[in-house]
Amino acid sequence: MNADTLDVERIRADFPILRREGHGRPLVYLDNAATSQKPEVVIDALVEYYTTYNANIHRGIHALAEEATARYEETRQKVADFIGAPGPECIVFTRNTTESINLVANAWGRKNLGPGDEIVLSVMEHHSNLVPWQFIARATGARLRHVDIDGEGRLLWDDVERLIGERTKLVAITQMSNVLGTINPVRQIADLAHQRGALVLVDAAQSVPHLPVDVQDLDCDFLAFSAHKMLGPTGVGVLYARRELLEAMDPFLGGGEMIRRVRLEEATWNDVPWKFEAGTPNIAGVCAFSAALGYLQELGMEQVRAHDLYLAREALRRLSQISGVTVYGPKDPEARGGVVAFNVEDIHPHDVGTVLDGHGVAIRAGHHCCQPLMGRLDVVATARASFYVYNTVEELDALVEGIEAAKRLFRAPVHTRT
Ligand code: PLP
Repeated sequence: MNADTLDVERIRADFPILRREGHGRPLVYLDNAATSQKPEVVIDALVEYYTTYNANIHRGIHALAEEATARYEETRQKVADFIGAPGPECIVFTRNTTESINLVANAWGRKNLGPGDEIVLSVMEHHSNLVPWQFIARATGARLRHVDIDGEGRLLWDDVERLIGERTKLVAITQMSNVLGTINPVRQIADLAHQRGALVLVDAAQSVPHLPVDVQDLDCDFLAFSAHKMLGPTGVGVLYARRELLEAMDPFLGGGEMIRRVRLEEATWNDVPWKFEAGTPNIAGVCAFSAALGYLQELGMEQVRAHDLYLAREALRRLSQISGVTVYGPKDPEARGGVVAFNVEDIHPHDVGTVLDGHGVAIRAGHHCCQPLMGRLDVVATARASFYVYNTVEELDALVEGIEAAKRLFRAPVHTRT
């Protein structure tokens, strides 16, 4: 696929923030792996909730409460449809991917893991798919194992085969790395894990926003992602889990909504998925997430993927032509998403980021919540450009221009003759 597949000019008109400037230049937003921008329909949906049907859900018998509950539950069905889940009862709303993974670690891990059991992760995981398992390993005596990567940032299949064994109870793996861009073979990993009696959790924070994802095709047991990385509001996350797993798990948080009957000394639980949604949720955010899902569905996730691929290919080509630039992750654009991490020789990535910011180009620089991966790559940090549906090749040119400017600035002689 060489040509672009989306009508990007039309899409850009839907995003009010793209009309603003950064330091006097048109804003070039290339930090989509951190969070995406929001189209007008999502912003309008937030305002619509607060101006026309603001009420708490599941509790009131008045019209506003009924409308808010209906819209909230309709979104649950829409999420289920978006990821091919068998039904809305498999969808739990959380605050973000991080909370979804913590929910599984606590509600499933504490009950099902013990000394000698193993959890298989990889060295490319985000901290939110590492630290919750460290907590649980410490609490239960389970052991953590980590699949390594090759020189292009792909999982070592030999390690996958070697580490997933009889003792493995869970494999928790990212579908797309937020640094390397690597797309992992989650279905093959799930097949192997299931053959060996383990469950599979997929960190889909980067994949659900950018790839067509079907949980039944992946055959995963748990899958976690965040609305804010896919045009939706902040504060809304999703946990997909097979219904029987949710039913067998104990609640994570206690309080209102998640109970059936409470006495002073004990309580019984609501049905799934509400058993896992204690307290008042982000009702406005969930209802507006529905608009984001609708927007992406209208574009088509195959087209979204093709556009990312187009930009990734163009970015790799452009960056490989700049001397002193090292790009991390697979060389083959098909093996990766629209995330390109790089370093410029002798210039700290924070300095690259600052110069780019001065050119109106927003990228991320740092460890990207992947400190173990930084160690594995033998770098302290990287710069990272990440793309979405409203980005253009002209913006890649602005990125290149900014990198060249950083090189000129930081490679200028320090000493001048007087
Ligand atoms: N996993 C991956 C691969 C991510 O890229 C991120 C966010 O950057 C997360 C998990 C955590 O997402 P959130 O901060 O929305 O919980």
